[in-house]
Amino acid sequence: MHELSIAISIVDTAIKQATLASATRVSEVELDIGTHSGIEYESLEFALGVAAKDTMLEETLFRINRVEPVAECPACEHLYTPEGMFSYCPKCKEQGIRLIQGTELQIKSLLVEQNE
Ligand SMILES: [Zn+2]
Repeated sequence: MHELSIAISIVDTAIKQATLASATRVSEVELDIGTHSGIEYESLEFALGVAAKDTMLEETLFRINRVEPVAECPACEHLYTPEGMFSYCPKCKEQGIRLIQGTELQIKSLLVEQNE
């Protein structure tokens, strides 16, 4: 399952960051996941639960932001929302599509707790 390896790397990254901050618990992880990233949101949520089990992220709330796609036309630089991977520029009908948003797969923020 593709989502599981991604979830494991998200959990690993969060643990590394939390350890660097001398945190003992991560209360929240906010993720930016583009709707064109190839990730299934429900599978990712499930996989995060699996990956976080028996780690310091076991109780962590994962908040997943769905980032809608934005395309820039390579011909006229018009910005638009593509209907799919094969849409075209509504202004000049150019078919080349360049996504400038919507393929994100990243940790946006971490909320950690430190014990005295
Ligand atoms: Zn165009």
